[in-house]
Amino acid sequence: MKMLDTIRALALSQPAALAYISPNTEITYDELWTQSERIAAFISKQNLKMGSSVLVYGHMEAQMIASFLGCVKAGHSYIPVDTSIPIDRVNKIIDSAKTELIINVSGEQMVIDNSAAFIFNFNEIMLKQAYEEPSNPSNWVRGDENFYIIYTSGSTGNPKGVQISANNLESFVDWMTADFPISGSLRFLNQAPYSFDLSVMDLYPALASGGTIFAITKEMIAKPKILFEALLKSKTQVWTSTPSFVQMCLMDPSFTQELLPALRVFLFCGEILPAAICKQLMERFPKAKIFNTYGPTEATVAITSIEITAAMLELYPNLPIGKTKPDTSILLLGENGLEVQPGEIGELIIVGPSVSKSYLGEQELTDKAFYKISGVQAYRTGDAGYCDQDGLLFYKGRIDFQIKLHGYRMELEEIEYHITHSKYVKSVVVVPVYQKEKIDYLLAAITPAENDFEKEYQLTSAIKKELSEVIPAYMIPRKFTYRDELPMTPNGKIDRKQIRELVLS
Ligand code: AMP
Repeated sequence: MKMLDTIRALALSQPAALAYISPNTEITYDELWTQSERIAAFISKQNLKMGSSVLVYGHMEAQMIASFLGCVKAGHSYIPVDTSIPIDRVNKIIDSAKTELIINVSGEQMVIDNSAAFIFNFNEIMLKQAYEEPSNPSNWVRGDENFYIIYTSGSTGNPKGVQISANNLESFVDWMTADFPISGSLRFLNQAPYSFDLSVMDLYPALASGGTIFAITKEMIAKPKILFEALLKSKTQVWTSTPSFVQMCLMDPSFTQELLPALRVFLFCGEILPAAICKQLMERFPKAKIFNTYGPTEATVAITSIEITAAMLELYPNLPIGKTKPDTSILLLGENGLEVQPGEIGELIIVGPSVSKSYLGEQELTDKAFYKISGVQAYRTGDAGYCDQDGLLFYKGRIDFQIKLHGYRMELEEIEYHITHSKYVKSVVVVPVYQKEKIDYLLAAITPAENDFEKEYQLTSAIKKELSEVIPAYMIPRKFTYRDELPMTPNGKIDRKQIRELVLS
């Protein structure tokens, strides 16, 4: 694979250059390459099934990256799983992917349900496995073979695995390195944990261009003082994050070009980029360009982009998501399945080489979402949008119950599925509560089952405790309300709109 060849060449031409900086570790290109060779050699000896994937468990450690590269050099894809994912969900991922091998980078003990999967600690592998001879490039993952699988929220109650091939990733990385001002060994900030594909936006473009990744951890994000001290030292030139994350940083008046004097590029993806955020960034970071990009995990990170200028802030109250990358097209289909006219709203269908082949082991879900158009892979995004007369694309929300909250993607139906399974709950509906057109928090309206709690808050904390064992913290609704009955629409569905109005009135 071309990208791996490039990283290998960089390990030879700039061995001492830093590839990755995280709070406890810094590794050079040479160390990254050598460690990943040892991981690859170790994996090759495990006789894993052809095409099976290795689960890599950890947070923002440099060893995560060495493990990823080790997996693909041994001919296996990897599944990145962040430590914030509850172990019950990790078990579901292991079952879904039929995982045989887990590399635990976290330093914490992992106890899983599945006896068919073996866990090795990264450091243990380093002790066992010396550097032997270079891995054979003909064994590296390539073409249509999976490079990574990212699990995202699924409406059926289980996470679903999006398979991204070497070709998918190469199409994305080629575009990033060609069309964005990020070449020349720059310093990239990495905010997103590796179980989210936003992390790929900086990881591989940085490594493919000889740059350095500066990773920020959940501990830093929880303590703004530590985060800002780290940012000051980070020398960040390319900033990648969700708009929500930068909005949090903007709350601190010291978040300016003085804090990050080298910053030249902001890359945003994953949710609506509000014009107000861009306006503040333009005032505080006069030397930086701002890009809005759009795309789902299923199409490899992002497939449209646009540089946001001051003039656009005047012109468009809702900023455009731009135009597609050259190898990709977007169709806008109306409810009748036909293309809509410019200005009319339709569902965004992405057609191109970075579209995933399918959800792993999920034929029904795959058939609903993926198909071919003239032999090219296409994905029904579930996003609504329109195109203006100049060919600029605009995002207009979802046509289903998938939402983004603080940058995290989730299916309301998945949250409802888990709440319904609580012994304290008869029925539930989860609704997003908006503030200024942005989701502020989730509210669960519940008809409770019989219980012995005297106070509602006790019931709420019991349900929240159960939920924390099965879904990540960011998916647990902030507020709970209890009703004897949930209102219905005339056709017998739970009336989400009425619930929101009832609760907020
Ligand atoms: P994920 O798979 O987590 O990247 O989430 C993909 C979804 O995030 C898309 O289907 C959109 O609904 C939303 N999204 C991504 N980028 C943007 C953007 N620039 N503006 C608005 N929504 C976005």
